[in-house]
Amino acid sequence: MSTNFNPEWKLGTQCVHAGEGVDSDTKAIRRPIHMANSYSLPHDLGELIKSLSIEDTDHFNYTRELSPTPRFLEERLALLEGGEDCVVTASGMGAVAATLFTLLGAGDRLVASEICYTGTQKLAGFHLPRFGVLTTQVDTSDLDAVRAAVTPGTKLVFVETPGNPIVQISDIAAIANIAHDAGALLVVDATWSGLVTQKTLALGADVVIHSATKFINGHGDSLGGAVIGPKKLMTEIREYGIVHLGACASPFNAWLIMRGSVTLPLRMKQHCENGIRIAEFLESHPKVLSVRYPGLKSHPGHEVAKKQMNGYSGMLNFNLKADMMQHFEFLKRLNIITYAVSLGHDQSLIYYMPTDFFFADWGVMNDAQKAKYRAIMGEGIFRFSVGIEDAEDLIGDLSRALDAVP
Ligand SMILES: *Cc1c(COP(=O)(O)O)cnc(C)c1O
Repeated sequence: MSTNFNPEWKLGTQCVHAGEGVDSDTKAIRRPIHMANSYSLPHDLGELIKSLSIEDTDHFNYTRELSPTPRFLEERLALLEGGEDCVVTASGMGAVAATLFTLLGAGDRLVASEICYTGTQKLAGFHLPRFGVLTTQVDTSDLDAVRAAVTPGTKLVFVETPGNPIVQISDIAAIANIAHDAGALLVVDATWSGLVTQKTLALGADVVIHSATKFINGHGDSLGGAVIGPKKLMTEIREYGIVHLGACASPFNAWLIMRGSVTLPLRMKQHCENGIRIAEFLESHPKVLSVRYPGLKSHPGHEVAKKQMNGYSGMLNFNLKADMMQHFEFLKRLNIITYAVSLGHDQSLIYYMPTDFFFADWGVMNDAQKAKYRAIMGEGIFRFSVGIEDAEDLIGDLSRALDAVP
């Protein structure tokens, strides 16, 4: 398919033009949404064989395998990440599951971040072992822990950075070296970076994953995921993870994400600017117990974040010098900031996570791990996805709600 693209363009230009083009039938200057689930096949046998091949991404047969609207988005995201190819999926978890189920099998060793999105934590720690994958979950912000866990038999290292929910920062370049020395692939879920603040593949990851539901779409109105990396691996992931396991993207959602991603660099700039202003405001507030934001010097991953990120994205944590019920009282008093899960939307979203819920959700956590994370989280944390509203208004909203906390 013809995409309008010049590799010398800067990021903002790429977000507008990569994967875009003029519709050959109608001359429409925006890509249409193709909702058809099936495509007319060539009568010529040679053409048919080519068209049915999973490697042929220019011809379409059936929408579970590939269809034009998701393909336009794949072209854009591959170009933005600087990867050879991309597979878009129904959701971020669809991307994680398609990748891990494709690249791992019974007897393979997986080393994964213990601090990561709940779905991934469960998939790696509970479901993959049901199929014979040997999983070790470690704190990947600790390179010694990664070195101790990665052995010559390790097939894949999975890192989430920045990591949910405590904005844990892992050193991608250093972990890439450890993984590659052991002959393992490095897969990084970079959702919280919002793509444009972290050149994950250039830092040494083999494969990068995004929940496009979050910053890439950015408007809170569709689900999607993406896996980006070498053509050979993407073809395997498309075949196993999408064609066989079924996590294909809906054309309509792909179109919404394509549209949302046009403004990604502008939105990320605002998320980053608001993020640091709000983190600094909270850090200086007498009722705030602690703040974690990679842009603050107080964050243990600040130096690594400074090295590997270009802006610190819009995700932060904080908690109050107050009991749990007062944390909920604070939430009730917010007017602009919405109490909801998800993140990376235009609007600010906040979610309270009691530390005991986090431990219970995690599954088996030993006493040393509990002590370590309780020291960071206290009795609970707000996971705050700072939106693109005016920072003054967000600070005003927080300030008013904080005044109401005894
Ligand atoms: C939200 C999220 C996911 C899952 O994405 P969905 O689109 O909700 O399936 C995976 N990883 C991270 C880091 C996320 O924040």
